[in-house]
Amino acid sequence: MDTTKMKFGTKAVHAGVEPDPGTGAIMTPIFQTSTYVQEGVGKHKGYEYSRTQNPTRHALEKSLAALENGTYGLAFASGLAAIDAVIKMLKPGDEVISVNDLYGGTYRIFKTVFEDYGIKFHFADLRNADSVDQLINKNTKLIWVETPTNPVLQIVDIAAIAERTKGKGILLGVDNTFCSPALQNPLELGADIVMHSVTKFIGGHSDVVMGALVTNDEHIAQKLYTLQNSCGAVPGPMDSFLVLRGIKTLGLRMAQHSKNGMAVARSLQDHPAVGDVYYPGLETHRNHEIAKRQMKDFGGMLSFNLKTDTTEAAMDTVAKFKLFTLAESLGGVESLVGHPSMMTHAAIPREERVKSGVVDSLIRLSVGIEDIDDLLADLQQALK
Ligand SMILES: *Cc1c(COP(=O)(O)O)cnc(C)c1O
Repeated sequence: MDTTKMKFGTKAVHAGVEPDPGTGAIMTPIFQTSTYVQEGVGKHKGYEYSRTQNPTRHALEKSLAALENGTYGLAFASGLAAIDAVIKMLKPGDEVISVNDLYGGTYRIFKTVFEDYGIKFHFADLRNADSVDQLINKNTKLIWVETPTNPVLQIVDIAAIAERTKGKGILLGVDNTFCSPALQNPLELGADIVMHSVTKFIGGHSDVVMGALVTNDEHIAQKLYTLQNSCGAVPGPMDSFLVLRGIKTLGLRMAQHSKNGMAVARSLQDHPAVGDVYYPGLETHRNHEIAKRQMKDFGGMLSFNLKTDTTEAAMDTVAKFKLFTLAESLGGVESLVGHPSMMTHAAIPREERVKSGVVDSLIRLSVGIEDIDDLLADLQQALK
């Protein structure tokens, strides 16, 4: 089915999936198999071994590509396995520029794994795209951007960064996890590779760990397929099936996450115990205008700090939540609360995290799709 001209909600239901030709099953079967029978040596139906290709994963990869309006989609065993493949496209001596408010696990793989392989990483405040100019040199091969960033929701102007990389042999990769393809499509803004922790909004039900890459560039895609097959961090068919199922409601879920996110942000803004509120949908957000331009809506992620900026104050508040559940991760249908400096961002030295706003009392919310009245009531009682 040609899904290129379809709207998002239609693509989410139909892209990549076709009735099973053998049985008519409307849902893509879980092809729980490691290998495929060959009629003669090298004579097969396009599938040889499930690290290389699997029909359930293949349907998912086509769906992921379609959702990002891209040509090539690749699924990985986790978001970090997807980032791992991108960095393995580089060579010793190459340099990467990234944002200084970065997902903790991404910072960790850059610093503790790939620095030992001779790749150099620069972390900069890219809220003003001009700041990338002074960091670009002849060794720069990749700019790796998260927007909105985790956890203080900084916004980076993807198109403005793309203008500065085009024609210079520098790839622009965007971690699009916080938006999901429903709210932002970086390839259309000039990015070369878009990455997702599928674990979060795309999967959407807190039951799968998975990652994805999408690109329009055949050369990049070939390199990534080689890495995916050679390094082997592929997801299994059962997880691929669960994500295909989750994707069908992605548009609906993101609309509800965004609606609830905005309501929670406004209610926090008005609360006397709350200091800064970081949500790109608020007019007070530093880069609200850029967010409005490159995002279709503002999603369910936000963070805030307390006027009493101590770890203890944050711990007390976090412990009082009843509906928002204390857990790592984000992007599921249920609302979660986390304390970045002690949880997701514990790997980042305090001095560095405080500089980017991850202060001791910072609390991050992943606002789910529950009834907003219940969420607001829980927030009010926790902040009392
Ligand atoms: C969770 C996350 C990752 C890592 O993905 P995993 O699926 O946990 O490996 C990368 N980037 C962002 C923004 C994330 O939230």
